Amino acid sequence: MTLARVAVLSVGDELVLGQIEDTNASWIARALQAIGRMPGERRTIADDCARLAAALGELSSTHDAVVVTGGLGPTRDDLTRDALRDLIDPGTMLEEDPIGIEHLRSWFERRGRPMPESNLRQAMRPRSARLLPNPNGTAPGLAAQLANGCTIFCLPGPPNEMRPMFDGCVAPELRDASRVVLTTALHTIGLGESAIGEQLGELMARDREPSVGTTASDGVVSIRIRATGTPAEARRQLDATVELCRARVGDIVFARDGETLASVVGEMLQTRGHTLATAESCTGGLLGAMMTEVAGASAWYRGGFIAYENRRKVEDLGVDPGLIAAFGAVSHEAAMAMAHGALRRAGSDLALATTGIAGPGGGSQDKPVGTVYVALAQRGTGIFSRRFHFPGDRATIRSRTARLALACARFTLLGVPTKALLWSEAEAVRVQPCP
Ligand code: AMP
Ligand code: MG
Repeated sequence: MTLARVAVLSVGDELVLGQIEDTNASWIARALQAIGRMPGERRTIADDCARLAAALGELSSTHDAVVVTGGLGPTRDDLTRDALRDLIDPGTMLEEDPIGIEHLRSWFERRGRPMPESNLRQAMRPRSARLLPNPNGTAPGLAAQLANGCTIFCLPGPPNEMRPMFDGCVAPELRDASRVVLTTALHTIGLGESAIGEQLGELMARDREPSVGTTASDGVVSIRIRATGTPAEARRQLDATVELCRARVGDIVFARDGETLASVVGEMLQTRGHTLATAESCTGGLLGAMMTEVAGASAWYRGGFIAYENRRKVEDLGVDPGLIAAFGAVSHEAAMAMAHGALRRAGSDLALATTGIAGPGGGSQDKPVGTVYVALAQRGTGIFSRRFHFPGDRATIRSRTARLALACARFTLLGVPTKALLWSEAEAVRVQPCP
């Protein structure tokens, strides 16, 4: 059972040059799936009439529909209507559309502004195309039915105009109520993408239905599952594949879809009636920011200390200066003392501490750039610290530290504190009592 495929074509020099993000294409890709259509291909073409016509020709011969955005403005670099004309009515002139002219006149009249002559161009259309009304702008869209059965929809580029027009004009024509495309993502942390791929094995076969793929971002590997079919069948198959994936990769799955590490840790703390505090050196508040992104975090997050220079570690967290002198501020001992200090001073049940060398300078033979200690103190249980070595630049090291610190907290709350994690040097786990 194959779904009719729809191509998404974005038009504009600014997109090709990377000056603005192509948010239209991803929005449309998601909107298509919501109406039971499968995005088949995405392309980005500069403001060039010949290339645009060629791309339209190619995509319309391999897809059931093409949704184009951009290039419908009033200026010389807006070439979508000309390119469409060259494809569907070659050798003809654009025609003035009376309803389009009327729309433009009343648009400017309502705003009490004279209409620039150039705007009239927006009421022009290829002979065999029809205009699509634009309630939020001057540029109407265009739709054309090709002899091969493909429909081309052209929408203006500004997202606030494009989105309502897609919902109002395109979606009703393309919607397939009997089919849906459902997607979901399982987020994991602690293993690399290839290791996850090996565990998923044949679930990732390219011809499998529902399909299973992986993406990696900032240390988080997400397993992305997509099911198509009737609404009930797609839901059942999606859920079944989610369970198969969970069974393969186990408890390193920390969240599904929009959940974050912080929201998941927060939920676990709240269920247990526990609170958390943070003591951050190399992450400088990233952990606190992740916690407070979660609405209602005050129920479980006490707050934190940004103890960057050694004096703050001593004065704010009560770390023994002799300990820093003996072992260094980047050490198991310092990390554990920081966590213990945060626990006592914030009166929380758990405390997380980070200290490390984020670079680019400051590394040594023993502790190269990327060396990080993450400590977790748990009231009445103990303090453990783990040494990591993160590759990458300063920003990468800092953000991975914050994420892996939360992953450590999650495993502790789950009761599996010594889990081997990506980038952690497993032999460096230490435990000391925590009153
Ligand atoms: P245009 O319809 O080509 O004149 O585009 C007008 C404006 O819409 C551009 O300057 C962008 O700000 C915005 N725009 C066009 N295409 C996109 C796109 N694919 N994604 C996001 N914004 C876009
Ligand atoms: Mg443009």
